[in-house]
Formats: sequence, structure tokens, C-alpha cells
Amino acid sequence: MTAAKEPSFRDSVDLMFNRAVALMDLEPGLEEKIRVCNATYTVRFGVRLRGQIHTFTGYRSVHSEHMEPVKGGIRFAMGVNQDEVEALAALMTYKCALVEAPFGGSKGGLRIDPRQWDEHELERITRRFAYELIKRDLINPSQNVPAPDMGTSEREMAWIADQYKRMNTTDINARACVTGKPINAGGIQGRTEATGRGVQYALQEFFRHPEDVKLANLSGKLDGKRVVIQGLGNVGYHAAKFLSEEDGCIITAIVEHDGALINEKGLNIEEVRNWIGKHAGVKGFPDAEYVPEGAKVLEKECDILIPAAMEGVTNITNAANINASLIIEAANGPVTAGADQILREKGCVIIPDMFANAGGVTVSYFEWVKNLSHIRFGRMGRRQEESRHQLVVDELERLSGDKNLGWTLSPDFKQRYLRGAGELELVRSGLDDTMRAAYQSMRDVWHGRDEVTDLRTAAYLVSIGKVAASYRALGL
Ligand code: GLU
Repeated sequence: MTAAKEPSFRDSVDLMFNRAVALMDLEPGLEEKIRVCNATYTVRFGVRLRGQIHTFTGYRSVHSEHMEPVKGGIRFAMGVNQDEVEALAALMTYKCALVEAPFGGSKGGLRIDPRQWDEHELERITRRFAYELIKRDLINPSQNVPAPDMGTSEREMAWIADQYKRMNTTDINARACVTGKPINAGGIQGRTEATGRGVQYALQEFFRHPEDVKLANLSGKLDGKRVVIQGLGNVGYHAAKFLSEEDGCIITAIVEHDGALINEKGLNIEEVRNWIGKHAGVKGFPDAEYVPEGAKVLEKECDILIPAAMEGVTNITNAANINASLIIEAANGPVTAGADQILREKGCVIIPDMFANAGGVTVSYFEWVKNLSHIRFGRMGRRQEESRHQLVVDELERLSGDKNLGWTLSPDFKQRYLRGAGELELVRSGLDDTMRAAYQSMRDVWHGRDEVTDLRTAAYLVSIGKVAASYRALGL
């Protein structure tokens, strides 16, 4: 038997797209127009560092401009290449459409190992890369708005925002040129946790539907579910933290770059994260079994597998051995098209990336709106909301003073009810609502059409339908 060949990431995304689009009745040519990447810009630039010129290669790919600005992160990693940024840009288009963030899809990347450079050097490299993109309007509040991704964080976003401001000194909306910024550089509360928080909300919504839970061969609630998580970066860390601390999930294994930790009673996420911070890996963590070959632990029996690291980790070589009932794709493209088929045939339910990790771009949308409106969410209404609540509390207290009624207010009711929503509460509420609505839209297609047997196809159908409607409205 000849070994089946795995397609590239870009081809894998296209294969999934094709599977869905075959069930649609799009007018001739529109399918191709949506599938292809509009443009990918490659830049090579030199920075003088450590006494010599170093040349770096970066990309910014624009997949679809049916809505502008286009949106998507910038990744710093050695594996960055054109195929990868194009696949990720395409996923951004579908993701934004699914969660109704009014953006087209884009993605950028710089081929660099950020650990090889100190902070000052990274700042110079980032600013230079940003300069190249800004001067071509590939970073611009109304055209193309990056955000963090693998290897980048709010620190890089602050440098990019400042670089844009220096080059566009009179642009009053300069801060909206990039999202995921630190709070004091125009960021929004809750953006750092957003993707992980979105994974939690996605799972909470899934578990609100017993029929869906049953399709994954599971039952009951999230409480007590055994979870294996791959990657304790920003996304994996927040997802695992919230699921274990707030929903009662038991994190039985964590897979990291230097191996995996197993503890059937549950790993403490904060402790593991602190350990990684100090030791640059999970090895040696007390209170867990250490397995050097981390990839094998992805195959460990569990209720929920959360790949939160990078693309292609579940592929045709290991898909048959995966022992999870439910997979939620916190990373982009962690399950290849080939693995997707094998897993579907095994009866595994996959909550697809374009929905599962859309929390990041959703809160990026809120940040962009905040930057354009130049006011923090909640600033106008919070105290007014509190004073209206005060009226109700006063009235309840007056009534509970009436012995004949026999009422009392429960001890913390007053304090909890009085507090008006600040920015973080509003962001979380907007994110929760977005995740619930997007799940419902996928679910309607999943259960409503006989030919649709998986959530990924349902997600593609919803998002391609929305992109197609935009193109039609544009008169294309
Ligand atoms: N890089 C993140 C993603 O893949 C966030 C994108 C954004 O916020 O624009 O969804």
C-alpha cells in the first residue's frame, strides 16, 4: 500500500471549502472568486543588527476584500511561508463572515525565530516590517488591520501602532490600524484572553444542546469532562484555565513542545504555566507524569481534545489513533483535510477552527470600533445603569421592611445587582452573544440539511453564503 500524501495547508483548506461548496448552488465563477486569494505581498528587508545586515522575509496576504478593512494576525515563526499565510488568510475570511465581524480576510507572517533576538532588536525588526506594509496600505485602519498571532503579542502591536502613527501624523483614527494593543496604547479589556474565552463560550454553547452532545458520544455537562490540551500559549492557557477553574473540566494532559504532562486528577494550569515560564518547558514539573514524546499524548483517551498550538498536528499519520469524542480546534487548521475525514468516519465531532477560535477577531472588532469611536465601552451608561438599579434596590428594601410580606434580600444581591457593566463585562457579553449566535447558525445547517453531517461543512456553508451575498450586493 502506498502511503497517502498529505496536501499542503492551503490545499487542505481548499479541499474543505470544496466539500462544502459542492452542496451550494452558486452562480458560475463565484465559487472560484471566493476560493482564491486576492493577493499576497512578499517583502524582503534588511536590518543592521549585531554589526551586520540581516535580511528577513515577510508576507501579508489578502484573501477576500468583499468587506474592508481586511483583518487577520501577523505571525512570527520560522515556518512562515506563502502557502501558510494564504491558508490562514482564507480562514480569516470565513471566520469573520461566520461571526459577523465586518471584515475581509487577511494574514501576515515574518520568518523569524523571535527567541533569537532581544527585545530591542525585535522592536527594530517589527518596526521595519511594519514600515514596509504601512507604506503599501497593507496596514491601515480602513484597509488592513493586523492583530497578534503565533509569536506576537500586544507588545508587537504597540510598536506597529506607533510606527503607523509616526508615518501618518494627522490620522485621527491611527490607533485603529492594528488590534490587540495594550490597554494604554488604545487596546480593549479582555482582548488577551479573548480567543481562549471564546473557546470556553463555544464549548458552553455546545453543551447546552444535549442532542449535539450525544452525537459526540458524550452526555451531561462540561463539569467533570476530561480534557487534553495541546499548547499552553496565549490561547491554550486561557482556554484551559477558564475550563478548569470555571466549568469543572479536568485537564488530564498538556502537550507542549518539549513533551507532555499527564495527571488523571487534573493539572493546575497556573502552576504549569509558571513552571514553563521559569524552565522554558514542561519537563520536571512535579505532580505529573512526564512523557518526552508529546505527540503520542494527543492520542490519549479523553472527552475533549483541544489542539491550541498550530496547524497540521492531527494528520493522516495519527488521526486513526485519536481517542477523543470531541475536538475543538482552538488553533487554525490543526486537523488536516485527510485527518478530518478519518475522524468523521470514526464518529468524532469536530468544532471547527473558524468558529472555535473566532473569539480573538471578535474582540478585535470591538477594539477597532472603540478606537474609531474614541470612547471606552460603558463610559456613558455605567453610572446611569447603576442609579436605575439603585431605584429598584431602594424599592425592594422598602418592601422587605414590610413585615407582612416576609421578604429579605439575599446577602450579596444588592452588591452584585448594583454594579453597572464596565468594559470587560461588556466585551465578555458581546463575545458570548457572538459565539452563541454563530453556533446556532452552524447548528441550523448541521441539523437542517441531510447532506450536512459535520459542523465544519455547516460552518463553511454559512460563511460562504455570507461572502457570496456580499459579492452579489457589490455587483460582481
Ligand atoms: N490571529 C487571530 C486569528 O487567527 C486574531 C486575528 C484578529 O484579531 O484580527 O484569528
